[in-house]
Amino acid sequence: MIHLIQGDITKFEGDAIVNAANSSLLGGGGVDGAIHRAAGPELLQECKTLGGCPTGEAKLTKAYKLPCKYVIHTVGPIYRDGKHGEPEALRNCYANSLKLALQHDVKSIAFPNISTGVYGYPKSEAAQIAVQTVKDFLSDHPGMEVWFCCFDDENYRLYQQLL
Ligand code: ADP
Repeated sequence: MIHLIQGDITKFEGDAIVNAANSSLLGGGGVDGAIHRAAGPELLQECKTLGGCPTGEAKLTKAYKLPCKYVIHTVGPIYRDGKHGEPEALRNCYANSLKLALQHDVKSIAFPNISTGVYGYPKSEAAQIAVQTVKDFLSDHPGMEVWFCCFDDENYRLYQQLL
């Protein structure tokens, strides 16, 4: 089942949250910065052992001081013009995060709006890809509860329309 919330993903009390990280996994701004601040410095220590993460893939860590159990770090595409594999890469972020969640028996997971901040993905197109990819996954795995956690009003309105 799909749920929609607006606010700070670091407050999510389910099993896992997804981080829109950069490929170094060594922290950044936006939601990545918020997650590292709330989790505490041990999260960065664990991320340093992972050797980065390619675009579209996902890696899992513990959540330390966060109220969830795991952080799934995925690396969204930097948007250029939509003709450089960005839609496929964004779809892979959602699909690979969900696959990894399933492997760790995650039953509830929250996603931020990957790539729609500094990575510049057009919000409407990104929302359509996110919703479609999650729906496709849930048709095979109906037991998972998925939250879209929107931070800004524009994304929240787009997801309200789509869902
Ligand atoms: P990216 O580099 O993938 O674009 P950003 O962190 O810049 O990542 O932005 C991704 C999305 O995360 C944006 O829609 C932004 O509004 C949102 N965001 C920023 N802080 C938070 C937060 N604390 N909780 C949830 N979403 C957030």
